[in-house]
Amino acid sequence: MGACKYKRVMLKLSGEALAGSTGFGIDFNVATRIAEEIKELVDMGVEVGAVVGGGNIWRGREGEGMDRTTADHMGMLATCINALALQDSLENIGVLTRVQTAIEMKEVAEPFIRRRAVRHLEKGRVVIFGAGSGNPYFSTDTAAALRAAEIDAELILLAKKVDGVYDKDPNKYPDAKKFDKLTHMQVLEQGLQVMDSTATSLCMDNDIPILVFALDEPGNIKRALMGEEIGTLVTKK
Ligand code: UDP
Repeated sequence: MGACKYKRVMLKLSGEALAGSTGFGIDFNVATRIAEEIKELVDMGVEVGAVVGGGNIWRGREGEGMDRTTADHMGMLATCINALALQDSLENIGVLTRVQTAIEMKEVAEPFIRRRAVRHLEKGRVVIFGAGSGNPYFSTDTAAALRAAEIDAELILLAKKVDGVYDKDPNKYPDAKKFDKLTHMQVLEQGLQVMDSTATSLCMDNDIPILVFALDEPGNIKRALMGEEIGTLVTKK
């Protein structure tokens, strides 16, 4: 294993990643395991930003019959619950953190201020970005792409249940083929399940690579950053 290839990365976790086997709510054993993985990166000197989804609690599109904006506000609040849970798990194992939210809730967390976020990162604090982008009709994938661009992250680590991008669902089709490398354009053209198209376009336009990998395999994040070929790497060319 060589030296770490990256100085600053953005980790995107889905809300479900925190839920464990039930798929709902927060399993603190799982949150602790994720926190330990993040700690390995911090101990290597990598600056880590994190965006957590909210799907383990609420997704805007689940609000059938609801006003979409209200439903999305609920989703953004769900991401804040998850951000605080991850913060707690990280601080329990001695990792310094800050939560910054795109919707102001000053009593609970800092508002998102880019320069401040960058300063925290420089000081070795993990910055967890809550409330997505602060706007309805967006996803936390898009928020991760946006914040990654703003903080100059070199890579988005996109944690998934499966170990990369496949041409079809590997859980349903045993002959599904895994891609080692793809371009953003291929992801968009082939409609591959990576990020939603808004997030993928943002990454493409701003030349942000995305590494799709399985969170379930311990040590995977560190291995990826040390240059081992795991998962699927999505790049501009
Ligand atoms: N959301 C939003 N704007 C954002 C990010 C999130 O309105 O910028 C809402 C949206 O309703 C979404 C929910 O928050 O469904 C939870 O986020 P997401 O579905 O991306 O979570 P994940 O699927 O990653 O757990």
